[in-house]
Amino acid sequence: MSESESDEQRQRRHEETAAAALAAREQCGVPLDEPIDCLLTTVERSFDLAVVIADLGEGIAGCLARRADLNLALLAAKDAAVRRRFTLAHELGHFQLGHGPGVDTPATLRNQSDPKEAAANQFAAEFIAPQPAVERFLQSLDDDSPSLELVCRVSNHFAISAWSARIRLESVGVINDPAVIRQLDSEIFAGKSKAWYERLELKDREDLCALQGSLLPRLATVVEGSAYADYANGRIGSDRLARAIGSSAAEVDELLGGSVG
Ligand SMILES: [Zn+2]
Repeated sequence: MSESESDEQRQRRHEETAAAALAAREQCGVPLDEPIDCLLTTVERSFDLAVVIADLGEGIAGCLARRADLNLALLAAKDAAVRRRFTLAHELGHFQLGHGPGVDTPATLRNQSDPKEAAANQFAAEFIAPQPAVERFLQSLDDDSPSLELVCRVSNHFAISAWSARIRLESVGVINDPAVIRQLDSEIFAGKSKAWYERLELKDREDLCALQGSLLPRLATVVEGSAYADYANGRIGSDRLARAIGSSAAEVDELLGGSVG
């Protein structure tokens, strides 16, 4: 549901979101000029938010579920690690900004017009890659001129997608020529970043967001043995999860994508 905002409201929301992302980083204890080593571990350690990676169903990238005794960020098993990390930071944004439960799709993770989605996306970018961390990394490079190579190096450093890295480089003011942005986006969407990762020998980060195959579903320790665990493992459907948590099946389906059972 989209709400309209005045320029003044948008500016205030932007500033409040930046302050929330900064406060969240400080809560994690990771210096602002460094990337976060394992986002999932850091989030679970620093916030009252448990992370699950499971099959969420067609078209669902993630969701934030809040119940009386448990706050959950659910991430789609089908997504690549770079996407899951951004989704997790986005759900943390909804959580820290007090937006309440909700479901995210690839479209909401790009949405810059809906105030809550735009705020969660801004939060995610600033939480994963704070400006001091971007600047410090750029200073460490021999060549920081705008190019797909630079985008790929930033993407690898922060373990986010090339497109997220390109957006971040624009928002911190490193890339601002519209023609360069169009060129980079066409290269990214044509899949040309893969060749750069190989040429530069950049490897994916092997953190908990990168779990695949038999290691999934990944359930938070706090969730093990709960109805959420049975739901994520496919042992019960949304109707039984709903009964276990005192909700309606329709609410659970809406909240969790209704993928299992
Ligand atoms: Zn969202």
